[in-house]
Amino acid sequence: MPRLVADRPVLHASSDLGRVMEAARALERSGTRVLHLERGEPDFDTPPHIVEALARAARDGSTHHYPDPRGVAALREALAAKLARENGVAAHPDDVVVTVGGTQALHLALQALLGPGDEILVLSPHWMAIPAIVSFVDGARLRVLPAYLELMSGAWSPADFAAALRAALGPDTRGIYVNTPNNPTGAVLAREHLEALAAVAVERDLWVLSDEAYEHLLFDGARHVSPASLPGMAERTVSAFTFSKSYAMTGWRVGYVHAPPALRGVLGPRLSFYSTHGQSAAVQAAALAAVTGPQDCVERMRRSYEERRKLVVDGLGGIPGIRVPVPSGAFYAFPDAAGALAGGDARELVEAWLASGVAVLPGSAFGPAHGAHVRVSLATRREDLEEAVRRVRA
Ligand code: PMP
Repeated sequence: MPRLVADRPVLHASSDLGRVMEAARALERSGTRVLHLERGEPDFDTPPHIVEALARAARDGSTHHYPDPRGVAALREALAAKLARENGVAAHPDDVVVTVGGTQALHLALQALLGPGDEILVLSPHWMAIPAIVSFVDGARLRVLPAYLELMSGAWSPADFAAALRAALGPDTRGIYVNTPNNPTGAVLAREHLEALAAVAVERDLWVLSDEAYEHLLFDGARHVSPASLPGMAERTVSAFTFSKSYAMTGWRVGYVHAPPALRGVLGPRLSFYSTHGQSAAVQAAALAAVTGPQDCVERMRRSYEERRKLVVDGLGGIPGIRVPVPSGAFYAFPDAAGALAGGDARELVEAWLASGVAVLPGSAFGPAHGAHVRVSLATRREDLEEAVRRVRA
């Protein structure tokens, strides 16, 4: 028998999400009703005008031509206009590439930016897929700097943040990955802090990979600042976006990446072309309807997450030993359970909650420094969140 799975660590790693989902499924098979607070996907249906745009495109024959691997021109133009209007980024449509979700946007970006021996500095806690996506680049490494909880608590001034970044850089660090609003903490980085990050990037001649998956999900009037809009950053920032969260479109697998002109010949013509040859034209018609159509659906969903946030912050925050940093964006809470844990690792707590039918993720999935936390998703029906809080309290 030939060895079918090659000897590459990235192909053998197991994931906390996989483990928790498997355990939750086993519990469901045994008849327990499980409340799924481990998933990062909106519980809302995709707004009907977006669904209709796909149906219309499919009926009208957007089915049988290979699409432009960068994305259809009309969508890239609409996205360039959106980047200018909402993000303050003067984007040319040729610098936008439509991708199979934000996940592929990050893959393409890292494949383009990182080479053997290169290192990326990843602020943490970070989305759990990031280490694997970096690992798919042969010989690339990551360094992790815990930062979002410090920024959220007000412990770091912009100067402190800049100092922490400088201290974390190594001789092979080529760039920084930043994600605001952040999964899993809900931190939203203030303009002054992003300016501090930008100053370090310029000073050390680094690129920045900015993951803006949750750009529209902001609470308490928080503002989203795109790093590429800051002085000196346009030529060194690659920004990844997705339709998954803003428009409840996780199942459609559509996102986009915007990059400086230096990457024009690489992201679309090489990386997208040779990986997927682009996203399907009908899905792109739906994405076009999403970005050019009415935006009140985004606001409606945002408001629901904001209401649910209070439920979780108050409900879990009232439990002795648990502290819940208040999220300003995205749709997660990242409670610190250190006070309720004997050994400082939340895995046992995750198992105990799961035994009562409440599925969440252990903080260790989001970086080695965060083992005392758990991640709770707010993208869950209000009644389920209420019931989850009740069970956990009991
Ligand atoms: N970035 C972050 C921070 C995320 O949380 C996610 C999804 N959980 C993504 C990117 C990718 O999402 P998608 O591939 O569905 O667009």
